[in-house]
Amino acid sequence: MTTAPTAHALVEAAESLFAAGVMSHSGHANLSARLDGDRFLLTPGFVRGLRPEQLATVGLDGRLLDGELRSVSTEIIAMHSAVYRARPGVGTIIHTHSPAATAFAVAHRPLPCRTEPMLRFGQPEEVPVVPWGPRGSDVSVRGIASVLADRPTTSAVLLANHGLLVFGPDPAATAHLLVAIEESAEAELAAVALGGAVDFPAGALAAVRSSIARAAS
Ligand SMILES: [Zn+2]
Repeated sequence: MTTAPTAHALVEAAESLFAAGVMSHSGHANLSARLDGDRFLLTPGFVRGLRPEQLATVGLDGRLLDGELRSVSTEIIAMHSAVYRARPGVGTIIHTHSPAATAFAVAHRPLPCRTEPMLRFGQPEEVPVVPWGPRGSDVSVRGIASVLADRPTTSAVLLANHGLLVFGPDPAATAHLLVAIEESAEAELAAVALGGAVDFPAGALAAVRSSIARAAS
């Protein structure tokens, strides 16, 4: 099976995050895309200027199968494979230090769903916080698995004192949701100056779903 279309889509998703302005100053991120039940593509330890042929192929058991990984990426294999194991429908995982979402992560505050893009594009519920553990450590990975078990419909988690982890069906949709979450975090913080963000009215998600269904029919 050729991995080229998946690799291209993943690199395009990485570029879209820079274009959208959701990256932190360091440009730190790691992205992965599932190839099949046992393997995924993973960024090699950098994303700026990344080419598709530089992606590594990694097994869900943590083994490097093809390509090269910097040591920073070796640490995060377990973080990605834990999500793929917990969520068979997930095809892409993106981790960033997007500044506004990371503010919620360092404050240990779940990010509420109070913007239309977040409601509409895959996270119609708050983004929960996973307790801190060193990146890729058993504590951190067990924490992610535990939160995913408690919150079976969440498509994102905040990693306490660290950053954001978003997962979805494919690279484009996952990058799109990550941008929506970062925008929501920015809006939440900006709204503090105006007395604070306000919840949607009851039934907002159902209203959006019927609006989407009408537009598609
Ligand atoms: Zn990180």
